[in-house]
Amino acid sequence: MDFHCLRCGNCCRQPGDVRLEEGEIEVIAAALGLAVHAFTERYTVLRGNRQGLILRERPDGACVFLEGPPAACRIQTVKPRQCREFPARWRYTDLEEICPASRRGTSPADK
Ligand code: SF4
Ligand code: SF4
Repeated sequence: MDFHCLRCGNCCRQPGDVRLEEGEIEVIAAALGLAVHAFTERYTVLRGNRQGLILRERPDGACVFLEGPPAACRIQTVKPRQCREFPARWRYTDLEEICPASRRGTSPADK
């Protein structure tokens, strides 16, 4: 079934870690025209369990790369795998409340 992201940005406002996997930091930093060190300083923090880096959140809990309205991801073309796989590979019990488009199908988000 086709999935049509409504670009509401709800998923990017949810509390929780947006993990950065091996190789993603370099790709995102390059897309922003930043050195890896500058990117990690400005846009990442250490996970609570100290196992790797996550994207920073704004004071309201939204991802630092969420822009809008209308909602848009500033690093859309290079966003982390965790984001690319939402909602298709997520198992939230309340997924339909977070992502209204998931009621109609599941496949990688294109926000
Ligand atoms: S990186 Fe982009 S898609 Fe991922 S949570 Fe942040 S704004 Fe949303
Ligand atoms: S993936 Fe779902 S929650 Fe995220 S912006 Fe698209 S419709 Fe909204």
